[in-house]
Amino acid sequence: MKITGVRIGEVHIPLVTPFKTALRSVDEVNDIVIALTTDTDAVGYGEAPPTAVITGDTKGSIVTAIRDFIVPSIVGIDILELDTIMTRLHASILKNTSAKACVDMAVYDLYAKALGQPLYKVLGGSSDTVETDLTISVDTVEKMVSDSIKAVSEGYRILKVKVGKEGLADIGRIQAIREAVGPDVLIRVDANQGWEPKDAVRIIRRLEDLEIGIDLVEQPVKAHDLAGMQMVTQNTYTPILADESIFSAEDAINVIRMRAADLVNIKLMKTGGIYEALKICSIAEIYNVRCMMGCMLESKLAVSAGAHLAAARSVITRADLDGPGLCRIDPYTGGPDYAGPVIHMNQTPGIGITAVPGL
Ligand code: MG
Repeated sequence: MKITGVRIGEVHIPLVTPFKTALRSVDEVNDIVIALTTDTDAVGYGEAPPTAVITGDTKGSIVTAIRDFIVPSIVGIDILELDTIMTRLHASILKNTSAKACVDMAVYDLYAKALGQPLYKVLGGSSDTVETDLTISVDTVEKMVSDSIKAVSEGYRILKVKVGKEGLADIGRIQAIREAVGPDVLIRVDANQGWEPKDAVRIIRRLEDLEIGIDLVEQPVKAHDLAGMQMVTQNTYTPILADESIFSAEDAINVIRMRAADLVNIKLMKTGGIYEALKICSIAEIYNVRCMMGCMLESKLAVSAGAHLAAARSVITRADLDGPGLCRIDPYTGGPDYAGPVIHMNQTPGIGITAVPGL
């Protein structure tokens, strides 16, 4: 099975509610999707979101990188020569991690199909289910409380609360959510780089003193401020999760060795795909650090590639894979089952998606 080329399209999927973080507000998923073609009937599917404020990738840059650089570098190679494919894919163009992730997942989709196995089994097969949290967007306290109550009534046991826009006033909204959902719901807090280091220490210590019970605080300070994040990590008890600070395996080594964070958030759109993400898994295993599998604002196709990795590796103990749960419709055929917070992995070959509209 040799790679012959690529078909490129777009998906538009409306969201249930607008997705708001300290960095942006979005009301639909509008991603690039691809079908990587082969000299057999098999195709591999991939998806990339243009998350310009985080990765620097736009729709135009993703299409150009895939069409003119990445795919030409791997055409003609047998899908089982995975090391050759990935070496060429990553050498074909600098950065452009979302475009690389898009092609990488399509390659892994084909690789697992060639082996006749679901992707999570090819990657390690640790579990056949993954439990995800649900994101509660930044909004008024009342709206965030009502969204949280709704999520819990739908079966979610883990909430990821977006904050970071209001400094110390963020404490009140987290406290209000805790009071509304009761003690048994796990609350994760994502500041999306929104706090200054000293404010972060003050806020997190206050949350600890109030005994609100926070599972982790994600990316409290600016991505580049590793010294600031190290200061936060060393002056609080709550686990600190590095997100925007870690794109590559090299970043993961730096953050872990500095003890600038306690946990690592792996996202395929940051690493450039599964191949690099597996290196972060290995690094985390060596240093006895746990990982969370996250996603950008992605639909079921790209999120499922991440879910397969999360299900495959025991070092990934947390999942923030709520993209499909935020989408109003599912335009795809096949793949893992996202009814509620527990994702059930497909037992069909590959990522499992058998049809993508427009491809
Ligand atoms: Mg985050």
